[in-house]
Amino acid sequence: MTEMPAHSGVFSPFGLSADETAAASTLAVLLAAATAGTSRLPAAVAPPGTTDLAAALGARMSETGAKAWTTIDGRGLGGLREPEAPLRVETAGALVPLCGLLAGHPLTAVVTGAALPAGLAALLEGCGATVMAAGTGTPVTLRGRARPMAPSAPEDPTAEPWPLALARLCVGLTAPGHTSAPLPPGLAAVVADLLAAFAVPVAVAPAGARVRLTVTGESETTAAALAANWPATPAWLGDWSDGAPSLVVAIDGPAAAGKGTLARALAVRLGLAYLDTGLLYRATGWAVRRAGGDPDDPAAAERAARALSPSDLSNPDLRGEAAGDAASRVAAMPAVRAALLDFQRAFAAKPPAGTAGAVLDGRDIGTVVCPGAPVKLFVTASPEARAHRRFLELRARGLEVIESRVLQDMKDRDARDSSRGVAPLVAADDAVVLDTTDLDQDGALAAALVLAGARARGACGSSSD
Ligand code: C5P
Repeated sequence: MTEMPAHSGVFSPFGLSADETAAASTLAVLLAAATAGTSRLPAAVAPPGTTDLAAALGARMSETGAKAWTTIDGRGLGGLREPEAPLRVETAGALVPLCGLLAGHPLTAVVTGAALPAGLAALLEGCGATVMAAGTGTPVTLRGRARPMAPSAPEDPTAEPWPLALARLCVGLTAPGHTSAPLPPGLAAVVADLLAAFAVPVAVAPAGARVRLTVTGESETTAAALAANWPATPAWLGDWSDGAPSLVVAIDGPAAAGKGTLARALAVRLGLAYLDTGLLYRATGWAVRRAGGDPDDPAAAERAARALSPSDLSNPDLRGEAAGDAASRVAAMPAVRAALLDFQRAFAAKPPAGTAGAVLDGRDIGTVVCPGAPVKLFVTASPEARAHRRFLELRARGLEVIESRVLQDMKDRDARDSSRGVAPLVAADDAVVLDTTDLDQDGALAAALVLAGARARGACGSSSD
């Protein structure tokens, strides 16, 4: 029995389960096997048990660079060879992409080891494959067919167990037309990046607590070369190398939707600079107050905005209520907004420390500050969810608060922010709306990464699709 090496160092950024990790790893290796040409995968992504499968299906493997990489000479989509011996698979997760891809090949394979996840045999048979099992376990004999039928979606795809959703996507690679399936955000981030790295057309859209991936079947794939620390650094980020225009990620949304936390995490993950634009308004209002002025005085506020320097933004006092109050006053003044525009645009176009781009969060980044940003997310959540988060935050700071009051304040502020004349809070037409109501922080980050990746590759549909 081949031991599956630990993947924690490779996949942990997305918090994938062991089964999800095995599924992603197997998909990577089998995509390489089913792609004509030489693909290069980090060795940790291509453990021996998985590369054995690819070899049995006709791909040629070699290790390079002190075993840091595995290169795979693949055979092309639809070109896998019939295995001579049973294929041994230790985890149900690894079975999913294997069976999904084999369903689209006119060959017979015997699979032993882990039992098929519930519902997988029926799904494969629904696409025209033949599945013969001895009782409920293995071995399973699977006979696929060229051009399988597109798998039909269940009534509520977001309630479908992820192995079945992933299996549908895998069958969809060799089936005619488009196949959609919603995956948990972490898995969606890895799978979407992987498919795109092999040039499979893949569109993504938020779907509640999941992210829906749509693949175009029968597409010609091209060999991929993944970075050593993939998937921590997604493959799509490689397109934004030195010399390319700055990768600007614009994040807007109402208060307590989680956009600040998300924007900061996204910047760290992608190695981009981060600008909390609310701080600019806070620093402006604070500077007026400190100089003994009145934040409601437009001339004083504009002067303060024009004199702002990056070092003014590190003052811890800016996080307080007083600075927030002064900020909302100066933020309503067109002259102040105009004065801060140059700073924000310069930061986005030429981020400090020479990073490949910048994440900016605020209220009007996608609409006014950076209307040409390649990635625009409008991060929101239900008023109830946002009020609950704010309530917990305030209570953790030892403040006595009533949740229903927090909710009413939130609704009042939403109405004010959305209806104000200057830079109202609205989603840009070309922003993807990410609703974080049903997502925790890790889920929101993974969903944002997959959406950002799709946008950055120019493959994402509008928020309404
Ligand atoms: O996000 P934060 O609470 O730090 O923002 C402080 C104030 O600055 C808010 O009341 C908001 O009205 C304003 N602001 C803005 N445009 C931005 C960022 C913040 O009007 N891009």
